[in-house]
Amino acid sequence: MSNAIIAAWNMSLEGVKAACELLKNGGEAPEAVKKAVNLVEDNPGFSSVGYGGLPNRLGEVELDAAYMDGSTGYYGGILGAKGIANPIDAAIKLSKRHLNCLLSGAGAEQFARIEGLAFKNMLTAESKKKWEEALEKEKTSPGAYRGHDTVCVIVRKDKHIAAGVSTSGLFMKEPGRIGDSPIVGAGLYADSAIGAVSATGHGEDIIRGCLSYEAVRLMEQGRSAQEACKTALAAHIARMKSKGFAIKDVSLVALGADGSFGAATNLKDGEFTFVYADETHPPAVWTISGGVQHIAAR
Ligand code: ASP
Repeated sequence: MSNAIIAAWNMSLEGVKAACELLKNGGEAPEAVKKAVNLVEDNPGFSSVGYGGLPNRLGEVELDAAYMDGSTGYYGGILGAKGIANPIDAAIKLSKRHLNCLLSGAGAEQFARIEGLAFKNMLTAESKKKWEEALEKEKTSPGAYRGHDTVCVIVRKDKHIAAGVSTSGLFMKEPGRIGDSPIVGAGLYADSAIGAVSATGHGEDIIRGCLSYEAVRLMEQGRSAQEACKTALAAHIARMKSKGFAIKDVSLVALGADGSFGAATNLKDGEFTFVYADETHPPAVWTISGGVQHIAAR
């Protein structure tokens, strides 16, 4: 089975390139996930993840991250933690625990300190400026701007599939708000025998549909990664619509154990980007056209 990486948003491109190199040099799927996510977390230019992430309503950067290993069932995550330079590193370390693998706030921070992980002020001058502007804008136009995005990375190396996510969540979120990203089955799900899926967009809408788990279950029933993403998202949208509930932005990326890959979105054509690479496709940015149709399915 060929090795492959899929990652949400074009911000993942450099990380995916570095992760591909790592795989070529004998690295395994978990290390490749960490590498790709770390490069996005460390880049202050990406204002929805890690350093330079956009803050909550109080001006504090609260970070969510999770990791799931599809071969061991390891899963760990941190919720609403502050100051951890690389949140995915804390999630990977936590995933090795059976109990207490999901820690929030001060507990997550204490864990990271004990583990010797680096801390830094994650609020850059640029993010602080955007927060000040948003506060100002809200005086005249409440809820005027909500920026967000998550780095979602899935790696398949031989028969081993692993997934990791990291985000600062919704800009101007309520303090303590947790999105889908660190919640298993919502923000990510991985099973090396079937495949893995990860989600980005409005976490509240993703959690409601348990979308990553749902798409993996569809793959288990024989759908390709692409069909599973498309079907899970379309069914969720329809189910919610029938209840009078309009879901907002949601996008999914997936790799199948069968070698397939896929993505789906309810954003407009071209708005959702992802990065894909395998042994015949060098790392490149892809997009989606035609609702939840993926123009590059195979
Ligand atoms: N899903 C993330 C959250 O709700 C944000 C995003 O991926 O756009 O926190």
